[in-house]
Amino acid sequence: MKLDVNVLRYLSKDDFRVLTAVEMGMRNHEIVPSELVDRIAGLKHGGTYKVLKNLLKYKLLHHDRSKYDGFRLTYLGYDFLAIKTLVNRGVFTGVGRQIGVGKESDIFEVAQEDGTILAMKLHRLGRTSFRAVKSKRDYLRHRSSFSWLYLSRLAALKEFAFMKALEEHDFPVPKAIDCNRHCVIMSLVQGYPMVQVKQLQNPETIFEKIIGIVVRLAEHGLIHCDFNEFNIMIDDEEKITMIDFPQMVSVSHQNAQMYFDRDIECIFKFFRKRFNISFQEDRDDETEVEVDENSRPSFYDITKDANALDRELEASGFTKKEQNDLDKFIEGGLEKSTDSDEDEESDDEEQTFESNEEGSLNEMESLQLQEEEQKRSDEVEAEVELDDNEK
Ligand code: ADP
Ligand code: MG
Repeated sequence: MKLDVNVLRYLSKDDFRVLTAVEMGMRNHEIVPSELVDRIAGLKHGGTYKVLKNLLKYKLLHHDRSKYDGFRLTYLGYDFLAIKTLVNRGVFTGVGRQIGVGKESDIFEVAQEDGTILAMKLHRLGRTSFRAVKSKRDYLRHRSSFSWLYLSRLAALKEFAFMKALEEHDFPVPKAIDCNRHCVIMSLVQGYPMVQVKQLQNPETIFEKIIGIVVRLAEHGLIHCDFNEFNIMIDDEEKITMIDFPQMVSVSHQNAQMYFDRDIECIFKFFRKRFNISFQEDRDDETEVEVDENSRPSFYDITKDANALDRELEASGFTKKEQNDLDKFIEGGLEKSTDSDEDEESDDEEQTFESNEEGSLNEMESLQLQEEEQKRSDEVEAEVELDDNEK
């Protein structure tokens, strides 16, 4: 998917007002009825409908007429809302090239006023795990606000919270700068993912260091759950940085030991294959570096602070309920943990969820709407500031 930030310049205050209205409607509607968008946006003289056309043209919205006439945000639309908010906050001023395509994210460089380059991670939950979502439909049916938008926001919030907490405990992670919606801004890591590295000066030292990180994480009550050569960055000085945290779990998780062992095994396997480190008997190969297989850490032998995770998350404002919602979704992907990108091309069209609403407002929704309208006026004011400055 392209992220043409130039479009930002063509978007007016009203465009953002309507885009924000659709976002709000999506809190209780998978597809937001046109009249509802119009009511939330509150533009005069049918202005909303003209603006909706413009937003469709730029693919910030998706028009759906299957059940009733309505709209939903595309990922691009959600991207723009987050980017605009962060630019308004002065976090960065421009978006540069794409530097990473993860399984469920897109990573871009962004530039600050003084030229500092940061990394922006846009979470895209549901992009590759759509099938997992489908199988969880029963669960989703009871949650009107459950959507890729909600999940991606939670993933970003969790990642941001962890990055901060891990940094405070001196783990080698990017510096967490800011977070909005599904977007995390962090320092740019120099170097490359381990998977691209063919040679190391000191493979055993790096190996020990990496295993040490997994163990120390467990001591702090955490398991990465996707700890592998794709999520470990290394620079020319062979400095390690670990990335990608939305799937982390507590050591008190029922499958904790399995996840821990799997993380450890990934590292053993990678170093065995790539750097010829042998963990068992001497294979008469002079070039092989030996590491004692008994050095494989045992989950049970580690003294773990199992509540650390909960404490950190609570402190960051990430509620238990949000944590459960996200875990429910991620679990399906965790069980198999494939790196397959077979669903990569699935576009926004596929990411719709079963609708569980009738399309008309009930009393509860009307009430919520009133509250949201109140909030909306504050938020929209903040969101549109940039446009005013540009004109
Ligand atoms: P995903 O959850 O989709 O796997 P990651 O956080 O692992 O996303 O990021 C995907 C890729 O983007 C990484 O493999 C790495 O190449 C790049 N990347 C991510 N974060 C940074 C960063 N802070 N600095 C530099 N590159 C990064
Ligand atoms: Mg990754």
